[in-house]
Amino acid sequence: MTTYLLRDVSPLGEGRTDVLLANGVIAAMGEHLTAPDDAVVIDGRSLVLLPGLVDLHTHLREPGREDAETIVTGTRAAALGGFTAVHAMANTTPTQDTAGVVEQVWRLGRQAGWTDVFPVGAVTVGLEGERLAELGAMAESAARVRVFSDDGKCVHDPVVMRRALEYVKAFDGVIAQHAQEPRLTAGAQMHEGVVSAELGLAGWPAVAEEAIIARDVLLAEHVGSRLHVCHLSTAGSVEIIRWAKSRGIDVTAEVTPHHLVLTDELARGYDPLFKVNPPLRTQRDVEAVREGLADGTIDIVATDHAPHPREDKDCEWAAAAFGMTGLETALSVVQETMVDTGRMTWTDVARVLSTTPARIGRVEGHGRPIAVGEPANLTLVDPDVRRVINPEQQATKSVNSPFRGRELSGCVVATFLRGRATVLDGSSCDEDVVVAR
Ligand SMILES: [Zn+2]
Repeated sequence: MTTYLLRDVSPLGEGRTDVLLANGVIAAMGEHLTAPDDAVVIDGRSLVLLPGLVDLHTHLREPGREDAETIVTGTRAAALGGFTAVHAMANTTPTQDTAGVVEQVWRLGRQAGWTDVFPVGAVTVGLEGERLAELGAMAESAARVRVFSDDGKCVHDPVVMRRALEYVKAFDGVIAQHAQEPRLTAGAQMHEGVVSAELGLAGWPAVAEEAIIARDVLLAEHVGSRLHVCHLSTAGSVEIIRWAKSRGIDVTAEVTPHHLVLTDELARGYDPLFKVNPPLRTQRDVEAVREGLADGTIDIVATDHAPHPREDKDCEWAAAAFGMTGLETALSVVQETMVDTGRMTWTDVARVLSTTPARIGRVEGHGRPIAVGEPANLTLVDPDVRRVINPEQQATKSVNSPFRGRELSGCVVATFLRGRATVLDGSSCDEDVVVAR
């Protein structure tokens, strides 16, 4: 196994030190470390060292939609985005609602070798919202599932939601809710507001998200369970989470990179690249989610990476699929919206993109402090680079990035998974990964 000496890097953007990675762990830290003869030395003078990023919300599409993404292409994209672990959402075909399917996804992730893959288990059989899936069997399987979600669909029946919240307490699991009241959003195409009225497109009102979040935080309080809110997108949702936390309710919430920067104004061009669920909201909502992330009301950033084949996006708005890719741009968007604007430090970035998602998912070995003896799951970032996003050159199999042609700040220079490089010099590092298999 290759030994790496990271020379003069800045852990969490504070100070400079050398960091030696050997035998899968951080073997030494300090000034002027001597490089072992066989070590690869990386000049880190302009680089920030972060704990490897952890995504709580990725759609890898395998099994079933390998034309959009596979576990290999999706996790390679994740590594290039600085991630060392991703949670793979359950809306595959077949659905990840049995121990057999989650074990298959978990095993394919290990074989791919780019990141750790933690399958999310479905809450209900076939995501149909009626009968609870085999939550206990998935928790006890080799995949050790702790996060359960019907994402893509809302667990809208309050009795089913209550039972799910009660059930997962036995193994310290969490229900990750896609908060969307289905009756209020039937046929919805975009955020309900001034722009949808002008364009004549059916609206997805903020209240359809907020009503479910309000209900669920009260249910979580009532049964004393843990709730996670996926891709929160409105100012009102931030207020509800803030209230719930002040009351001591055990709730966490995520925001996506795209909801931190893009608004419903983009729908005016009718380009389905900007069609996503929950929809892009208003500038006021963008300001509110940024503020909520900065003050800790929103716990984490999760990508909701949702690859789609070209034919599902190269069509008119109404016929297009909902969703955007995000693994390879997430860190840049967070840097640009939160760090470059002075709202957050790199320590905060490590918290929202690594430490806290690892804690919510009950993931071991990720989101750890940068310290001697810890597993070498690490990401090196060059914050000073500017790059133009070209989806054709990304590792994800799909090209539905909303940042196409846009210049973004920062890039991932290297990613290490248990001490072996999955990314070096900004390119994926096939040899090291193959050796590890
Ligand atoms: Zn969702």
